[in-house]
Amino acid sequence: MSFQGLDVKEIVIDHETLSVRIREMAMQIKQDYQGKRLKLICILKGAVFFMVELAKSLSDVSLTMDFMDVTSYGASTTSCGEVRILKDLDEPIENDDVLLIEDIVDSGLTLRFILKQLAGRNPASLKICTLLDKPSRRLVEVPIDYCGFAIPDSFVVGYGLDFDQRYRNLPFIAALDESKLPPE
Ligand code: 5GP
Repeated sequence: MSFQGLDVKEIVIDHETLSVRIREMAMQIKQDYQGKRLKLICILKGAVFFMVELAKSLSDVSLTMDFMDVTSYGASTTSCGEVRILKDLDEPIENDDVLLIEDIVDSGLTLRFILKQLAGRNPASLKICTLLDKPSRRLVEVPIDYCGFAIPDSFVVGYGLDFDQRYRNLPFIAALDESKLPPE
């Protein structure tokens, strides 16, 4: 299969399946955050599509949103383990019930760094919501509270996830044909 000139091995999660699961996650979050000051924090850029869909499914919940950008893989497909804040939150999170929205948890290094940063800012609570999880790749444990899909170890793109900043706008999650990737 080829999309935008990209060699895709297979579609791992189609658009309909993503939509259904995100609505389910929203229902759970709505129940859990009744009466709380919910703030969604989107980790740019990969989690944008997921957070927008999730937020639309929470249309009857009063919430705020903020965005944080950290270093990602660039053109490579594995984490270098170094994380740096490129864009910090606009607002303080003190006393907020913060739900961190991630696209995918791989080694866990990025989330561990972000959690440590945000925990020091005294939120009322701090939880993690990720669309995808690759548990077999974990190097450090991170407590995931909401997970859309656990997937096997392959490099995926689409629905916000990129390869070299491209393919984020595919409306599904697809596995790259890794034989076509440049050597690390
Ligand atoms: P970690 O720090 O958990 O190793 O990596 C987290 C970040 O790496 C994710 O937010 C994402 O940007 C990137 N990442 C990890 N696995 C994949 C993958 O399969 N595809 C893409 N496109 N990015 C990934």
